[in-house]
Amino acid sequence: MSARDRSRSPARAAAAGHGRRVTVVGGGFAGLAAALTLASQGARVTLVEREPRLGGKADEWRDRGYRFDTGPSVLTLPEVVRDTFARCGLECPLEFRPASPLCRYLYPDGRAWDVYRELEPTLAGLDRSEADAYRRTLDKARELYEAAAPVFVHGPAPGPWRLAAYGLRHGLRAAPGRSLPDLLRALGAAGPLLGPFFLRFATYVGADPRRAPAVLHNVAWAELGLGVHHLEGGTYALVRSLRAALETLGVELRCGEAVERLVTRSGVVREVVTSRGSLACDAVVAAVDRDLVLAWLGRARREREPSLSGLVLLAGLGQRDERLARHTIVFPERYGAEFDAIASGRFPSDPTLYLHISARDDPADAPPGGENRFVMANAPALPLGSADPEAVEALEAAGREALLATLARRGLGWPRESLLTSRWLGPAAFAAYGYRGRLYGHAPHGLLGALRPRPRLGAASNLVLAGGTVHPGGGVPLALLSGRYAAATLIASW
Ligand SMILES: Cc1cc2nc3c(=O)[nH]c(=O)nc-3n(C[C@H](O)[C@H](O)[C@H](O)COP(=O)(O)OP(=O)(O)OC[C@H]3O[C@@H](n4cnc5c(N)ncnc54)[C@H](O)[C@@H]3O)c2cc1C
Repeated sequence: MSARDRSRSPARAAAAGHGRRVTVVGGGFAGLAAALTLASQGARVTLVEREPRLGGKADEWRDRGYRFDTGPSVLTLPEVVRDTFARCGLECPLEFRPASPLCRYLYPDGRAWDVYRELEPTLAGLDRSEADAYRRTLDKARELYEAAAPVFVHGPAPGPWRLAAYGLRHGLRAAPGRSLPDLLRALGAAGPLLGPFFLRFATYVGADPRRAPAVLHNVAWAELGLGVHHLEGGTYALVRSLRAALETLGVELRCGEAVERLVTRSGVVREVVTSRGSLACDAVVAAVDRDLVLAWLGRARREREPSLSGLVLLAGLGQRDERLARHTIVFPERYGAEFDAIASGRFPSDPTLYLHISARDDPADAPPGGENRFVMANAPALPLGSADPEAVEALEAAGREALLATLARRGLGWPRESLLTSRWLGPAAFAAYGYRGRLYGHAPHGLLGALRPRPRLGAASNLVLAGGTVHPGGGVPLALLSGRYAAATLIASW
């Protein structure tokens, strides 16, 4: 945590915000955390969200007795959530329950492997050489995480000096210039079981793992070493709690209102123009896709390769499949081939599948005897330019067919009468949140590509960006942190 962030205790709050009018645009986790932090410091905050509900990519869907989180289900770094409330003088009303096992892995040769936060039960599923390689590779993930997290996660965007200091201090151990597959080969973890297992963590930040820099191996530690957690009531319980906290602090919530442009005068944003009118403000936090903010300011975007998008099936089933744990990964015959299809704009025919069934721990999420299956595959972002909706629909239809065929091939399908409700989400739906439907900004390929853009645009001194497309990046804890950093940046400038 930055010294600047730390120095602002709730007790000093009122003085810092001092009734300033701040508009926060976007009601995803980044916008919610920014609004909470600013309001706790005495600012008069208005949060503008285009959708009727808060949460952004973290939404909830209920139908026929089934409840689904439509977005995040793997919650890491719970202390970031607790801290987000605590720094505002509020108690976190949520209870985190550790996932155990963290995840079950199903391989095409029929092998099943349960991975825990504890080493012993995890290694029990491996032969001796795999177990040695697992230990070594996990140690490396920890080393990379402990070096990188203080610079790239737990602090404001690093400038050239902090980057240079990181390079000098960690040198070759930080694996600069190396790719993730190279690192895994060197550690003896590139075989059929551990290779896909360790590569896949790079998809958490939207990378094709084959092109990811080795430093992204640190992501594995956040899950394997620090653990995965669940919230009673699902991920959406966090959105509800943040909303309640905002209401307590008197934040004005304007849902169902879209921001259309920002009016700047003399290098300062003076007005936020929305679908319902115009809001005068002293400062703005834009917690939306960075490219959208560039468009609002009439500035050109630099076209960069998009990160992965996703294809999601929410299926309410009248049956249970006990071979599936709460979190299950189903690996394809040839891990990596799916990214060739994605690179050429197609949906893979044999994708890796991630399945999540919250009803395993929260029986209220499905009727008795049934289960609420969330199934997700990696998918390409939308084609460049104004994509023809019919062509996009044809592509997504092929993706849906491939996902269902993969489930059936692996014996994880269901008879028609067992499917009681279902809903699909794909890149076209995710385009409501991110440019071209990408989930994590630009693709984090290559060492510099993994760095997220700084949260300032230079166009306006009272405008700070937040959210998954800027520092420190996507995922629930990082989006919350980005909102806190944006708020801290404004407060420090007052
Ligand atoms: C299917 C899926 C699964 C995921 N799984 C995980 C997971 O397991 N673990 C994890 O940590 N992360 C996961 N993520 C990523 C995580 O959900 C995101 O990184 C995080 O929620 C992003 O929050 P955000 O605030 O940056 O952006 P968003 O949630 O995108 O919020 C931006 C908000 O801005 C609003 N907005 C956009 N335009 C306007 C406008 N013009 N005017 C007003 N408002 C506007 C949007 O409606 C939205 O509410 C997943 C994402 C998806 C889609």
